[in-house]
Amino acid sequence: MSCIFCQIAEGKKPAKIYYDDEHLIVFADILPRAPVHLLVCPKVHFPNLQDIPDDILILLIQRIRIIAKEIGIEDNYRLILNNGAKSGQIVGHLHFHFLSSASGANLQLRIQSP
Ligand code: 5GP
Ligand code: ZN
Repeated sequence: MSCIFCQIAEGKKPAKIYYDDEHLIVFADILPRAPVHLLVCPKVHFPNLQDIPDDILILLIQRIRIIAKEIGIEDNYRLILNNGAKSGQIVGHLHFHFLSSASGANLQLRIQSP
């Protein structure tokens, strides 16, 4: 599988990981466009929002709310999901961009080695 987000989810490509579990992985965008710019992905490769099962989608949204609370930005974040190449989706593995302008957010990332 050549998908870069699958490689990150499998630990084959390094990333600054904030959270991962059986279903999800949350890591820093390599080209951050805000003081907080995380990518929230299912571990299984679903191309976009039309493909992901409801139960996994709910896990992603629940985790986003938990992370917002953990890092103290419940009232200051944006979610972006580019759905399909025509909308600007470059990586064809569903992901939410989780962005915040909060420069003092309590974000503790860990580098994962391949
Ligand atoms: P899209 O346009 O598909 O919604 O966004 C893809 C995002 O993935 C971009 O913001 C881009 O900076 C990020 N990205 C691309 N390659 C890598 C990578 O290898 N590692 C990480 N952490 N982010 C990446
Ligand atoms: Zn993938």
